[in-house]
Amino acid sequence: MLYTSTRDNSIRVSAAQAIAQGISEEGGLFVPVELPQFSIEKISSMVSMSYIDRAKTVLKEFLTDFTEDELNYCVEGAYAADKFSSSKIAPTVNVDGNKNILELWHGPTCAFKDMALQLLPYLMTVSAKKTADGKTIVILVATSGDTGKAALEGFKNVEHTKILVFYPVDGVSPMQKLQMTTQEGDNVAVCAINGNFDDAQSAVKSIFTNAEIKAQLAEKNMMFSSANSINWGRLVPQIVYYFSTYCDMLEMGKINAGDEINVVVPTGNFGNILAGYYAKKMGLPIKKLVCASNSNNVLTDFLKTGTYNKNRDFYTTTSPSMDILISSNLERLLYHMSGENAELVADLMAQLNEKGEYTVSDELIADIKKVFSAGFTSEESVDSTIKSHFEKFSYLCDTHTAVAVKVYDDYVAETGDDIPTVIDSTASPYKFSASVLNAVNGNAAELDEFEMVDELNKVTGADVPKPLASLKDKAVRFTDVCNKEDMSQMVFKLLNL
Ligand SMILES: *Cc1c(COP(=O)(O)O)cnc(C)c1O
Repeated sequence: MLYTSTRDNSIRVSAAQAIAQGISEEGGLFVPVELPQFSIEKISSMVSMSYIDRAKTVLKEFLTDFTEDELNYCVEGAYAADKFSSSKIAPTVNVDGNKNILELWHGPTCAFKDMALQLLPYLMTVSAKKTADGKTIVILVATSGDTGKAALEGFKNVEHTKILVFYPVDGVSPMQKLQMTTQEGDNVAVCAINGNFDDAQSAVKSIFTNAEIKAQLAEKNMMFSSANSINWGRLVPQIVYYFSTYCDMLEMGKINAGDEINVVVPTGNFGNILAGYYAKKMGLPIKKLVCASNSNNVLTDFLKTGTYNKNRDFYTTTSPSMDILISSNLERLLYHMSGENAELVADLMAQLNEKGEYTVSDELIADIKKVFSAGFTSEESVDSTIKSHFEKFSYLCDTHTAVAVKVYDDYVAETGDDIPTVIDSTASPYKFSASVLNAVNGNAAELDEFEMVDELNKVTGADVPKPLASLKDKAVRFTDVCNKEDMSQMVFKLLNL
């Protein structure tokens, strides 16, 4: 299996090269040249497997340059039982009738990013051994909250790696901030930036592609790579749980082999939902992928009209991991849906960079609409959805998941399409205690983060994840704040160069 770039079709690299490098030289994203196909028989044969074996079955088709031993080492290390609070790793829970929730937050940082970021450091170090022997990989991360912590946790004390995380100073929840600023490990650093997530992401991207900075790192035998979902090694682990949830739906008797399901995804950078698209292209019977946004509804507008326009107000919402106006992984979808038209993608991305907007042809958006549906949710509806869902079904969801639940309810009301459906749940409700507690009983004022956790536990009875409860006793290690213009200097400072 070889990989090419969304902006230059002539490029061919191995999986290991794509993962170690992170982003293609000319700024494009790595994509597989062709996709493996899974028959219904093959999918059915995965029902009796553990999550680890399901992961191996899917991943070995993509990581053909990894030996069986290497793959086993990576997957067994990433999804070890002591790292996840569910033996199923990513359990599917039936809420009501055809409505099911795929819980992706049982990992060490209580957000779905763990599903990929527990595996990525393994993939990255094996890849680096194959392609960049002896080099120290410097992971630069721009985070809207969850990626930062999950990446720090995944990479902490991993040999031959260093990790630097930048987060928007006012753009993450108090729990998310505390998770990052108390991070342990000898190879980690965290810095706040004055700006929003898009500022952080753009600055990180330009540092990656800055030849001068790269040369200075090379002198020290270091190279940059990315743990953001622009890295193929972040996306490929996410394909696995779509196969896994389908198997679980079969096992629960919710569907028969071959039946179609709908999938609803609370979306930010378009990585999670894109993994669902890859699963569908590989033969998994998915009918519609429903893209759910909060008030930052740039994707809803694009998927409805074909015009992507980031020139709009940016809202800081209660679902901060989705407060994004530049959804990087849409680039990969445009590449695939346009018939691998790299010139077109390069042109659209140049327009986005220069004018902040682009419009695709009627034909292309019509094709995309055959597969994707989209909707967005106001802040008030997020609260009422958390409350009503808890009262009706005794199921407590976090703010991001609530966005998806509301968009799904709207989708069914509008289309009548209520076939068996999986809604991705992307964070533990305790990660956003203030918002969730307020939604449930309007009672978060006055309480500190940990009192809120206790109160939420009292009101709902839902289990408090251990990694969050234990934060209370940890010391803050990182207090740096910098301007986005100064991020490259900060990189040198943090690396002691
Ligand atoms: C990252 C994140 C999302 C958005 O996922 P993308 O892959 O960026 O679209 C949604 N919810 C939570 C809790 C997240 O951490």
